[in-house]
Amino acid sequence: MSHVMNTYARLPVAFVRGEGVWLWDQSGKKYLDGLAGIAVNTLGYGHPALVKALTERIASGITHTSNLFNIPDQEAAADRIAEITGLDEVFFCNSGCEANEAAIKVARLYGHKRGVERPEIIVFEHAFHGRTLATLSATGSRKVQAGFEPLVSGFVRVQLDDLDAVRAVAERNKNVVAVLIEPIQGEGGIHVPRMEYLRGLKDICDQHEWLFMADEVQCGLGRTGQWFVYQHAGFQPDVLPLAKGLGGGVAVGACVTGNRAKGIFTPGKHGSTFGGNPLACTAVVATLDAMKKENLLGNATAVGRTIRDGLVEALKGTAGVVEVRGMGLMIGIELDRPCAEIVSMALENGLVLNVTADSVIRLLPPLVMTEAEGRQLVDILAPVIKVFLARPVAAAPSAKAG
Ligand SMILES: *Cc1c(COP(=O)(O)O)cnc(C)c1O
Repeated sequence: MSHVMNTYARLPVAFVRGEGVWLWDQSGKKYLDGLAGIAVNTLGYGHPALVKALTERIASGITHTSNLFNIPDQEAAADRIAEITGLDEVFFCNSGCEANEAAIKVARLYGHKRGVERPEIIVFEHAFHGRTLATLSATGSRKVQAGFEPLVSGFVRVQLDDLDAVRAVAERNKNVVAVLIEPIQGEGGIHVPRMEYLRGLKDICDQHEWLFMADEVQCGLGRTGQWFVYQHAGFQPDVLPLAKGLGGGVAVGACVTGNRAKGIFTPGKHGSTFGGNPLACTAVVATLDAMKKENLLGNATAVGRTIRDGLVEALKGTAGVVEVRGMGLMIGIELDRPCAEIVSMALENGLVLNVTADSVIRLLPPLVMTEAEGRQLVDILAPVIKVFLARPVAAAPSAKAG
């Protein structure tokens, strides 16, 4: 019996080697990676610049010191993040939920400074912000929350894509101090809002002096063809939680602030033992520098288009395909039925992907994927979808998304 706690329904495969966008399992079978460890492995596997930087950092003997001291790697990583975000301050942590926890604390402190005793944050249906108590309370999924009540208070939930709902809350609730939104919902099923909606939401925030907090833990960092989704919409947030792709596979998160949220945290207000240590920050610098040098943003736009267009073409007229959507290399294929089984069918055919929100096939490949590899992905995936959809619906097991 495994002593690993039973929190994941794991697939019966273990990857032991990787190169570029390719993975090999214990039996030597090769797979094309359409998931990047859930949007984490930005540079794929074994990227020479990342391997070199991390190897040197480890060989120096200094992988961790403490935030009680100056950390040059942390300064360098913060400079890079300030440059690509246009924001001012970076708090380093180790994961996405921690980045959101920091954002929630920033919002509460901001509220208290403005004399709001019980500050509240507007959040959205189907959003995902993490698994800690505060972030699961902010998450718009009863499945994530069930069994963990009492939830953390101070969140007001509204439907996505409905500015009037936000205006109505503003009208009746004077405790609101911030909005927390995933500019593209990931776990919720790759929901891309209209950019006018995001701009409208930002306008409402400006009007009431609320913080606009963009959870770009999944959609940010080059995946959509810009560094951040808010750059597609043409404005800046006040708070920006990041993680997943930031360290190219090394655990690191960040809560970035600027504009109205600048200078909220002062010494003693927040902290993390591991956050921003030399190893993690070396990974951040190497990842961001390689992304810039190799124009991976442009690559995400081009290869993302190849994959979406290829899938639309290959699946034309296939009953059961609801929509192929997304931006850059953040792609969802919604089917008209639960499709968790597609994950193992794809694995059998040498493709790694994921299903979320029960019926949405999710692709989040490494940003180093080439056009040719994108076409290969389509050539494997489209037939798998067709075989799956050709089965009698009754034979499809009631699916539980992983
Ligand atoms: C994955 C994710 C999180 C949580 O990140 P963890 O590192 O698992 O804590 C938060 N927000 C979004 C949008 C995510 O996709």
